[in-house]
Amino acid sequence: MAREIGSVCKLCRREGDKLFLKGARCESAKCAIVKRNYQPGQHSWSRGRPSNFGVRLREKQKLKRFFGISERAFRLVFQRAARLPGNTGEHLLKLLQARLDHVVQLAGVSLSRRHARQLIQHGHVFVNGRRCNIPSACVRQGDALTFSRREKVVAHLKECMESRKGETVPGWLQCDEASMTVKVAELPKREHLEFPVDEQLVVELMSR
Ligand code: SF4
Repeated sequence: MAREIGSVCKLCRREGDKLFLKGARCESAKCAIVKRNYQPGQHSWSRGRPSNFGVRLREKQKLKRFFGISERAFRLVFQRAARLPGNTGEHLLKLLQARLDHVVQLAGVSLSRRHARQLIQHGHVFVNGRRCNIPSACVRQGDALTFSRREKVVAHLKECMESRKGETVPGWLQCDEASMTVKVAELPKREHLEFPVDEQLVVELMSR
């Protein structure tokens, strides 16, 4: 049975921004936020103005869902960011952007973030020549990502890359399609995250 379009993408509508969770579908006219840009549920219009807590919670949930991580994992990243000197919000975004699954997704090798996580967990991604099957691992400046040379995997990845051809890869990553290598030219900065989020609100919520 065909799935109802609205039923597969409720998270973006709940958060109010496109979270890009479904790969190519997010850019197409099938995107649920394009078709029905209102909250899901029968009483979506009668929920009133969100409280201060509600606004902060939505910012945090948005960020968590965009990066596809659990509450516990998010809390650990936040604690790590809070220990670093300087602006905690900026550190939080930098640490999240440096996650291996995010890098694989940005480089245009996978169809979506979930797909990137699967590739990593199945052992198809190598960092500096060593297999890394931890999606939350952080990349460092100068790291080189390569992919499994197994015939089936190469064919699959080439197909994925073909389908994402034309998408802009951020300047901090250098992708060589021929050798299927992704180099981390520099570490991501706050401004590299184009996703609309107010990290200060997240910090306020998490520091309560
Ligand atoms: Fe679904 Fe992607 Fe649109 Fe979000 S942006 S509603 S995940 S298609």
